[in-house]
Amino acid sequence: MQVAEVIYSSQIYGPGKRTVLWLQGCSIQCDHCWNDELWSFKGGIKKSPAQMIEAAIQSGDDGFTLLGGEPLDQAPAVAHFIMQVQSAGFDVVLYTGYELHELSTPQKKCVQMSDIVIHGRYVHELRSENLLWRGSTNQEILINNSKFSGLDLSEKRQVEIHLNEIGHVKVVGYPTPELLQSIASRNGMMTSLKSTGNGYEI
Ligand code: SF4
Repeated sequence: MQVAEVIYSSQIYGPGKRTVLWLQGCSIQCDHCWNDELWSFKGGIKKSPAQMIEAAIQSGDDGFTLLGGEPLDQAPAVAHFIMQVQSAGFDVVLYTGYELHELSTPQKKCVQMSDIVIHGRYVHELRSENLLWRGSTNQEILINNSKFSGLDLSEKRQVEIHLNEIGHVKVVGYPTPELLQSIASRNGMMTSLKSTGNGYEI
């Protein structure tokens, strides 16, 4: 799979603690997509299921979330990935901008294999920052694994701040402008705030 970015131990893209992979490339190209840096199919790094399983174990994560870009534009590799990580005991949350009726046979297979699927286009006019796991109100959550059928899916605004080993801050989810400003001015010094395909880097 061609992967643009990974974060570990996230709790805002599915239940429990998750390794989140943003896949490179999207052919859907929704209006006002804020991940348009991930549209190109050039770029990213090839990651194998074995590499990612090892990293998720090190992080103590329960599952994987596949985001985009558009994961189903890499359907054969994604199906292989899902099979391998589920065999290793991880659950899978799959995001797709496709509607279910648009799926090809290999894409349908990925949806059927995943434990939870968030599907549908991002529609800017229907954007809400208070939707659990989703960006716009038309998007739907499909739960394929009964283990997750009792989840609380009510509205909540979520944001996470990740700090890497060299002190770089990554903010994902829906931060308020005030929160971003306060992080950017930490230690009393304004630092640069850069919007990236999947969040903000400081
Ligand atoms: S919102 Fe998702 S599906 Fe839509 S263009 Fe952006 S990356 Fe692609």
